[in-house]
Amino acid sequence: MEDKALKVRRLQEMDVQGKRVLVRVDYNVPLKGEKVLDNTRIRETLPTLKRLIEAEAKIVLIAHLGRPKGKPEGKHSLKPVAAELEKLSKYKVNFAADCIGEAADSVVSKLSGGEIALLENLRFHPEEEKNDAGFAKQLAKHGELFIQEAFGAIHRAHASTTGVAKFLPGCIGLLVQKELEFLDRVINNPQRPFLAILGGAKVSDKIGVTLRLLDRVDGMLIGGAMCYTFLQAQGVSIGKSLLEAERVEDAKRIIEKAYSKEVELLLPADHLAVKEIKEDASTQLSQGMAVPEGWIGVDIGPRSIEIFQEKIAAAKTIFWNGPMGIFEMKPFSKGSFAVAKAMAEATAKGAVTIVGGGDSLAVLGQAGLSGKMSHCSTGGGASLEFLEGKLLPGLAALSKEQP
Ligand code: AMP
Repeated sequence: MEDKALKVRRLQEMDVQGKRVLVRVDYNVPLKGEKVLDNTRIRETLPTLKRLIEAEAKIVLIAHLGRPKGKPEGKHSLKPVAAELEKLSKYKVNFAADCIGEAADSVVSKLSGGEIALLENLRFHPEEEKNDAGFAKQLAKHGELFIQEAFGAIHRAHASTTGVAKFLPGCIGLLVQKELEFLDRVINNPQRPFLAILGGAKVSDKIGVTLRLLDRVDGMLIGGAMCYTFLQAQGVSIGKSLLEAERVEDAKRIIEKAYSKEVELLLPADHLAVKEIKEDASTQLSQGMAVPEGWIGVDIGPRSIEIFQEKIAAAKTIFWNGPMGIFEMKPFSKGSFAVAKAMAEATAKGAVTIVGGGDSLAVLGQAGLSGKMSHCSTGGGASLEFLEGKLLPGLAALSKEQP
């Protein structure tokens, strides 16, 4: 690894033996009441926890859950996460009802070597997202060392991701290291052909990464609502499909760049369309790239699925972010599931497959294919920003070149 990833300290380089260690984790998991619907993010931190327990470190975990607007809210409590962590890890997890002050101090001070505390949601304090130095200092008091293990939050400059690093010597954890190594490989040394598959709704979020990926990839498939802005840019009629009109010029630039770089950029050859977005709407398949007047494209069509599957089967490195249609509604989820299945088959044949983004991971989860990829990134936004070449604040804060 020859860039940002190498310039930060790793867990292996830190002496954690018997130390009190503050670990920022990403336990922002989907909950239904008290039930954790997907525990991937918790499970992925277990290797780091195991390493720390073996070193008899006193482990203080800090995390956020949801968007609780800076004050305590029962539905955003991390308590169910503590129970899930206990169940998964088989270690006792001491839960503190606040991340600073009396409640946190008393739990942290009672920790013995090899024990874990999980502190309540950081975002119950508005100072967290404001990256308030006083708040960061209070968090830092809980540890002698800081470990950044929250890949999903590493692109944010918050008190717990960058602020604490000013007060404590820090390093990245094993999950962050794994994420960076995979993404680094994708960016710097991919096996070819290298294919990127982009979907989802927000073109504006993905312009940067799309442009940067065009310098790296051999092919790019664009599906989801994103494709309609690109089709519009090519003068193809898109009916009433979702359009980001102010991004049409950007889409034109991307198409031109793909052409000049000789990157094969493919848009869907056909669409599943409805008149109204509802699960039981009657559907029609478009006859070609154009969506009929008055209709809305909600998924890629069967011809597109076939072409996308062929391209996936021929690729050696595949990066996928964003669903191919409104996958939350079963009748419009075929394209996304087909991509997931084709990726699993490609992995089995030796391709390196990387999936990022909550929606694509949800598709994999629903299809029972999560374990069939080379790497599922726990950070959708973070993985996109890394591939885009942006400096991730949570990494920059740990740079070895920092004073
Ligand atoms: P993003 O957050 O940009 O990755 O977008 C994800 C969302 O895109 C999902 O909630 C999908 O339902 C939505 N999406 C995908 N395809 C379409 C489409 N053709 N029309 C409207 N929304 C879509």
